[in-house]
Amino acid sequence: MISYNEALTITRQAFRSLDPQTGDVDLLDATNRILAEDIYSDINLPTFDNSAMDGIAIKMNPDIRKWNIIGEIPAGKYKDFSLNENSAVTIMTGSMLPPGCDTVIPVENITTKDHQAFLTKNSRFTRGMNIRKQGQDLVEGKIALHKNTKLQSHHIAVAASCGKKNVKVYRPLRIGILATGDELVDIDTTPQVDKIRCSNLYSLLSAVKEMNMTPVNLGIVHDKKQVIYDKMRDALNSDLDILITTGGVSVGKYDYVKEIHQKLGINILFHGVMIKPGKPTLFGIYENDSKKTLVFGLPGNPVSSLVNFILYVRRNINSLFHFQEEETIIAVLEDNLSKNDSKRHFMRGLHSYDDKGTYHVHTIGSQSSGNLAEMGKANCLIIVEEERINPKKGESVRCMKI
Ligand code: AMP
Ligand code: MG
Repeated sequence: MISYNEALTITRQAFRSLDPQTGDVDLLDATNRILAEDIYSDINLPTFDNSAMDGIAIKMNPDIRKWNIIGEIPAGKYKDFSLNENSAVTIMTGSMLPPGCDTVIPVENITTKDHQAFLTKNSRFTRGMNIRKQGQDLVEGKIALHKNTKLQSHHIAVAASCGKKNVKVYRPLRIGILATGDELVDIDTTPQVDKIRCSNLYSLLSAVKEMNMTPVNLGIVHDKKQVIYDKMRDALNSDLDILITTGGVSVGKYDYVKEIHQKLGINILFHGVMIKPGKPTLFGIYENDSKKTLVFGLPGNPVSSLVNFILYVRRNINSLFHFQEEETIIAVLEDNLSKNDSKRHFMRGLHSYDDKGTYHVHTIGSQSSGNLAEMGKANCLIIVEEERINPKKGESVRCMKI
């Protein structure tokens, strides 16, 4: 069995080889997409020297506190005026400045009477105030947004100012989820006798959505070799980038997933990792002439499947698109932890920080990988490394935010 670090390295290399496609989309359809090009500004921002305030434009002389108003320049309606030290032009926010203007005095700091403006008592002004210089925000030809930016509204604003009607983005990876298990019923059914609701399909499809990748719901199949085989074969021959199954991957009598992987010609790179939860996880690559599909067989336990999704799929997608790695913090343990094997454990925890800026972390009740409701209370995974035994309250632990 391999270690988590080895499993992470193997999966990371495989994700790197995926080579996501790119395409142009209208800027309005680009929200939350990942930019696949650098965006340069085609103009200076601002394009011209302009006023940052409503007020009067003047040519400053520190001894002059009264000006003759010779006209006005509304925003977008420039008129030429020739300013001297005794004259002023009424100006609005965003208006282009007349030649000679070096200062704008805000309307709040003046009074006006008979086409004259007077600086109010106690108002101070300095040369250059309230002027936005051409190119001060961005100089023409300079990079405005970097490739791999996840486009949110504040990035869209920058792209819009650079005149980008269309932007090049990555096509989201298509990730199919298939739940296996004779005991599973869909969530609109009340489970009878020995059946359970299939939560994995929903947790994993939503985890895919959270990353803005494309979830593909492949539904539930029973533990029948031929049915799982047919379903997986069709999925592998569709346009999926990643196929994830849950359940049937350990050593139970009806755990057929590995055998089916072999029959389908999937190149299995590992089966079994020294971690908890998620020891039985299987990973392989399916290749046919035209494409490559990464295949994960995750355990059926609801906590294991979601934690393993985070540990392999989410982490690697973040790395592939150069997003920030999963955020980890060092926290003070507030409970004793029970761990006396040589696996790496990822325990569900609830972290908080005190007014000194120190993180603290509690464990969330039982660490059983079947306890789904408990996981709903967690906001991190407490990482207990392979060599560490029974960490005690007061010791430091590394936690991965979820
Ligand atoms: P398995 O990995 O198939 O041995 O399943 C391990 C445990 O997870 C069993 O208790 C299953 O009933 C449960 N389980 C399997 N698949 C799902 C699912 N899709 N949703 C919720 N629980 C599941
Ligand atoms: Mg099963």
